[in-house]
Amino acid sequence: MARYTGPVCRICRRHGQKLFLKGDKCITNCTLEKPGRNNPPGQRMARRRKVSDRGIQWREKNKARSLYGVLERQFRGYYEDAVRQPGITGENLIRTLEMRLDNVVMRMGFADSRNQARQYIRHGLMAVNGRKVTIPSFQAKNGDEVGWSDRGHKSEAFKIQEGGIASATKASWVTVDETRMTGRVISEPRMMDTESLFDPAVIVEFYSR
Ligand code: SF4
Repeated sequence: MARYTGPVCRICRRHGQKLFLKGDKCITNCTLEKPGRNNPPGQRMARRRKVSDRGIQWREKNKARSLYGVLERQFRGYYEDAVRQPGITGENLIRTLEMRLDNVVMRMGFADSRNQARQYIRHGLMAVNGRKVTIPSFQAKNGDEVGWSDRGHKSEAFKIQEGGIASATKASWVTVDETRMTGRVISEPRMMDTESLFDPAVIVEFYSR
């Protein structure tokens, strides 16, 4: 699946908000916090203009897409699935996005960012229920055990993450066994379990027009 490979800090500058796309750097050396960088990229965008309701919805949708590293077609597919499921569409959408394997790996503290998690998964370093999975968009389920594959255990990434796992911030819907370096999904994520960096109701409004 194709994905955005351009400069990621540009995305935060576009939305005027920290989206934490680069892991530790976002805490220690954020571009947005540097003098003169908290403005939209590009000379013509130097001033923020008034945005229509439709524009706000479009931006909110793009923000969520950027956050989870999903391109438009796949994101729309997630929305359409969310509509078909019982319950609140926005909550269904959040659950689908959060249950992507790249997000789960990051939430368990095995990677500093979703980008890094995607790289680990594509390189065959991660496993679900003991079986190697190389698809970042793989949907984890409640009860799944996520850990490192045989190849992952021998990798440099494993050694690096092993050292920092104890201090990593983990989500409330996962548990992590730091000695075995495995994690388990113990419930389904809800909006209140995320950082609330976007409003799913606004995204639902965008697509439902
Ligand atoms: Fe966004 Fe992180 Fe770059 Fe800051 S360092 S602008 S939070 S990606």
